[in-house]
Amino acid sequence: MNYRMLARDKPLALIADDDASLRIPMRAALIRAGFDVIEAADGQMAFSLFSAEKPDLILLDVIMPEMDGFAACAAIRNASGGEYVQILMVTGLDDTASTERAFEAGANDFVSKPINWVMLGHRAKYMHRAGRAYRELNISQQRLAKTQEIAKLGNWDFDIAQQKFFCSPEVRRLLGLESGEKGISFNDFFKNVIVQERDHVSETIANCIKARKPFREGYRIVLPSGQQRHILNQGELLFDEKGEPEILLGAVQDVSQLKHAEEEIRILAFYDALTGLANRSLFLDRLNQEISKAKRHKQHFALLFLDLDQFKRVNDTYGHHIGDLLLKNVTASLQKCIRDTDTISRLANNDSETIVARLGGDEFTVLLSDIDEPENAAVVAKRIINEIPVSYNIDGHDISITTSIGISIFPTDSSDAEELVKYADSAMYHAKDNGRNNYQFFRESFNTAVQERFSLERDIRKALEQDEFRLYYQPQVDLASRKIVGAEALIRWIHPQKGMISPDKFIPIAEESGTIIDINKWVIQTACRENNRWAQLGYPQIRVAINLSGYQFANQNIIKVIQDALKEAHLDAKNLDIEITENILMQDTDETIGILQEMKDLNLRIALDDFGTGYSSLSYLAAFPLDILKIDRSFVMGCTQNKNNLVIIKAIIAMGHSLGMTIVAEGIETKSQLDLMTDFGVDEAQGYYFKPPVTPDEFILLLEQGTL
Ligand code: C2E
Ligand code: CA
Ligand code: CA
Repeated sequence: MNYRMLARDKPLALIADDDASLRIPMRAALIRAGFDVIEAADGQMAFSLFSAEKPDLILLDVIMPEMDGFAACAAIRNASGGEYVQILMVTGLDDTASTERAFEAGANDFVSKPINWVMLGHRAKYMHRAGRAYRELNISQQRLAKTQEIAKLGNWDFDIAQQKFFCSPEVRRLLGLESGEKGISFNDFFKNVIVQERDHVSETIANCIKARKPFREGYRIVLPSGQQRHILNQGELLFDEKGEPEILLGAVQDVSQLKHAEEEIRILAFYDALTGLANRSLFLDRLNQEISKAKRHKQHFALLFLDLDQFKRVNDTYGHHIGDLLLKNVTASLQKCIRDTDTISRLANNDSETIVARLGGDEFTVLLSDIDEPENAAVVAKRIINEIPVSYNIDGHDISITTSIGISIFPTDSSDAEELVKYADSAMYHAKDNGRNNYQFFRESFNTAVQERFSLERDIRKALEQDEFRLYYQPQVDLASRKIVGAEALIRWIHPQKGMISPDKFIPIAEESGTIIDINKWVIQTACRENNRWAQLGYPQIRVAINLSGYQFANQNIIKVIQDALKEAHLDAKNLDIEITENILMQDTDETIGILQEMKDLNLRIALDDFGTGYSSLSYLAAFPLDILKIDRSFVMGCTQNKNNLVIIKAIIAMGHSLGMTIVAEGIETKSQLDLMTDFGVDEAQGYYFKPPVTPDEFILLLEQGTL
């Protein structure tokens, strides 16, 4: 495309006429009108001269040898550079047919013989001027289009009264719009905006007309190729004389590169370049978000402040390069610990999030969201302290390092971000004072509580070896006959110093520390053995129920443990019930379901414990192979006072029965509770009203009695 205007002092006119006597006055008229003139005697020659000289104006006689005026006119128009030249046809015949043909061939105007020479000069002048204006307009439009292409900027307007939309080719290109037969409509304009943002964008633009205000909107579009592009669309209103919005003028720009640059800047601004961890400012930002979230949901969270012990010495001895590599290695260890604890102890809280950041130097922070108790933070701190000191081989040097950790707890210690960091930091100094390589809570009472907990954890490990556990048995009574048909085995810990400790207190700790696996095994073996002993003594065979907690249910090899225990005790599987809680079902993995199915296949009966305290509905439970439903004590307790409870219990019993389950009521303490449960058709019951859990020897006395 040629955007340059031809630079000539005077416009050039070409006269094409086979009659030389006519060419003389024509030339004179045009020279007078300010043109330079060249001449051709036929159509063919006119075309050649046009191609060589590109005149601004052509006077073309219709009837000529070789090529007539119409053909020459059409040929010139179609030739390169022919679109702007002004062509004036000279017709001898004053009829409409030939004037029409002249226009069809692309002439701009015509003049009939005999010619008025003065008028011809004027007309040529005005035609030339109009042609020039037309050409300039065209060229400037082309320039604009090219400029827009380079700037990745397109313009558009929307005529509000006429509801007519126009956009420049660059808008179409940028937005990936095909212009069909009807061109682009205002609706097409939004076609490729990503779905999530589309309504918002079109509303913003519509609102700008209503509110009579300019708009500026950034959004993403998806091109037909699937590629995404960031677009900035800005617009302003033009108003008519009455002050009504008339036209919305806008510009569309591709800002993808800008966005990418912004993203890079964001990464530089918020992440630590050495380790890739969040930096201080991102950490504080997340900490504040966590504070709002924890306030909303009434949660606790912990902030761990880590400082490597004597890191400076590493730097001084081996140099900064090695120091940096050590920091990277420590980061990897840290991330590994966090991942492990996240998957093990915090499975239930799926939306809880752990953020690790490097505040600078050898200082790191970890934010543990939604913890139940400070102990959970201690568990993570302990893991980190155990994990970090592996010796790292860095560039041939074996370097080992330890860490000290301070912990603050939201909201117990503070609800303010800066303060939480400060307190955790100061607790970290306590840890250093305590000889490094340990952790400290900011709040002293947590340190003692946690110590107690960990000493319990150590004691549980020993308790198995030293045979400090006992099983107590609570009879389960058939309500129709009042016969003892079963017993629930409940564990007790006879601690050498602390006396009897209830399972509610140590089972959660055993779960956390993993000792629960060995405890479960012991419970299963003991229950099977004692049940068989009673049968050997000649009492009618009863069922014994054991409790299995949900912790790592799938990883305990539980089926094998049960099979071995049954075999060793010569006990039939139908005399062993397994009590599980809803949280096992909620894990709802293929493995969990597989294990339950294997239990069924063994002929064990599965009881759902504490029903009514969880969240699942009976219809959900129908999907699992359950035999017994144990209605939780809290329901039974409330049933004599609260009418609503009655309705719910009735419904549970009816549904349970319709699913073929046996219904057991737990925690019957009074006669009136027993009567109600009997009325409702509950099958079996247990509770203090009959008997609290008793030792195996005492249980023999109950068996002797037979009914309760
Ligand atoms: P659970 O399975 O719901 O056991 C019933 C609890 O209610 C027992 O508490 C029992 O002593 C108590 N109880 C029975 N009748 C009544 C009554 O009429 N009134 C009241 N107020 N309470 C009654 P316990 O033995 O302290 O056990 C507490 C929980 O510890 C058990 O709740 C169970 O979840 C867990 N647990 C007990 N033994 C084991 C075990 O061997 N393994 C596992 N994993 N968990 C166990
Ligand atoms: Ca139970
Ligand atoms: Ca229960």
